[in-house]
Amino acid sequence: MKNRVAVITGASSGIGLFTAKLLATRGAKVALLARRKDVLEQAVSEIRAAGGEALALMVDVTDQASVDAAAAAVEQAYGPANLVFNNAGVMLPGAIEARETDVWQHQIDLNVTGVMRVISAFVPQLVKSAEQGATVDLINTSSIAAQNIYPYFAVYSGTKAYVSHLSRHLRAELGPKDIRVSLIEPGITETELQGHWTFQGAKDWLAGAARSMEFLQPQDVAEVVAFLAAQPKHVNLQQVVVMPTRQA
Ligand code: NDP
Repeated sequence: MKNRVAVITGASSGIGLFTAKLLATRGAKVALLARRKDVLEQAVSEIRAAGGEALALMVDVTDQASVDAAAAAVEQAYGPANLVFNNAGVMLPGAIEARETDVWQHQIDLNVTGVMRVISAFVPQLVKSAEQGATVDLINTSSIAAQNIYPYFAVYSGTKAYVSHLSRHLRAELGPKDIRVSLIEPGITETELQGHWTFQGAKDWLAGAARSMEFLQPQDVAEVVAFLAAQPKHVNLQQVVVMPTRQA
């Protein structure tokens, strides 16, 4: 991971936080992007105390200006990014008859348009890095929900299906420029994500799942990201599904 300048969105908790710490441990310079300043700064202190290089950047991916400002700050601090882990997201299940259009819109704005805002801000740096001969990755976090069918997750699953298909198309566009595009589709992972749920039907489903399997830990998914990024430059794992062993 030496010579890697990694940008991680959703880096204040869960999968993003563990990926930032892992990549830093392996020698990457890491920029941690999220909204919660205190948590990001704590993570950066821990990385630096362990001998790593890290930068905390307060970003709301629903606001293009804040994403653009972070992109400029990364390039100024470390040079152009050559690894973007586009991971921030939210999962808010609910019954469709409840007509929670604001909740639908929030998921779309974060999981779909937010992902695009990050791509828009950082692809120029990825192109620049590739032209300079660096190994370059754009890794987007989708979900097994992009493939499987779950009642009450229609809007969330739709946003993740977007991320998966977007990634395949971008790969066709950016691969010829030596930018690897990968997508990760994790199954249930124990993070803060489900802590935001209010819909009882989904909480009951999760409690049942917890009784029947051991969930993934965010470290498990972080290892997959590190594995993708560690491949030789001509090797691009296009799509990785990583699941708890017992999850169907
Ligand atoms: P967490 O809730 O632990 O992490 C979500 C991250 O996104 C946080 O760092 C949060 O930081 C950030 N975030 C949320 N809203 C914004 C915003 N507006 N702007 C910037 N950052 C934001 O969940 P996970 O680690 O589980 O989720 C990471 C990704 O993995 C998501 O895309 C999720 O959909 C996906 N995923 C998760 C699965 C799971 O079972 N956990 C399964 C499949 C996919 P902050 O609040 O500080 O802004």
